[in-house]
Amino acid sequence: MSENLRAVRDRIRAACERAGRDPAGVLLVAVSKTRPPESIRVALDAGQRDFGENYARELREKAEALPAARWHFIGSLQTNKVKLVVGRAELIHTVDREALGVEIGRRARGAVQRVLVEVNIAREPQKGGVMPEGLPALLERLRALPALRVEGLMCMPPLGQDPRPSFRELHELRTAHGCGPELSMGMSEDYEAAIEEGATIVRVGTAIFGARPGSASV
Ligand SMILES: *Cc1c(COP(=O)(O)O)cnc(C)c1O
Repeated sequence: MSENLRAVRDRIRAACERAGRDPAGVLLVAVSKTRPPESIRVALDAGQRDFGENYARELREKAEALPAARWHFIGSLQTNKVKLVVGRAELIHTVDREALGVEIGRRARGAVQRVLVEVNIAREPQKGGVMPEGLPALLERLRALPALRVEGLMCMPPLGQDPRPSFRELHELRTAHGCGPELSMGMSEDYEAAIEEGATIVRVGTAIFGARPGSASV
């Protein structure tokens, strides 16, 4: 696994070079959902600090077991699970509605929670994220919440299609709405393309930890 990590970091550096970007401007989040704490510990020992989790309970358990890691919440978040994540996640990537922002603010108890707004960039039904046309209104509401700091945008492009148009559109939305510096986009299959299109955070699981048990693809 430390070899996988090294290979991913090398590819990130190469993609930055192609794009004329400083590698320090790209954060690698190792997506550790379903991975046991022992695997995460190996990655920590190999110098990886940031980890991404999709399930609130799993994030809480792992954050308690592995306080040396920095945690990112990247899954769809139900309002009643917010309390498990707030204060434990360095960054919540998936705020896509006002009610969720309000609950995060309520649970922050005076602290400031850093968040990203997830955009349903290809307007896919049944997918999380605010529709691009709904983004300005949502940003305005979230910015009115003092306990939240919106630091950028996140997306998951449609499966089985060229992700670049989605990456470009998210980049353009960030520019148009001035919503913080971060662009969380790119997974194992497409993080290099995402970096070429401006990603500041890539979320990579399989390429680091291997295929997830029970997953047929990647
Ligand atoms: C699982 C997941 C990833 C990582 O996917 P890989 O293909 O394993 O790299 C990234 N982002 C989100 C939101 C995920 O759910």
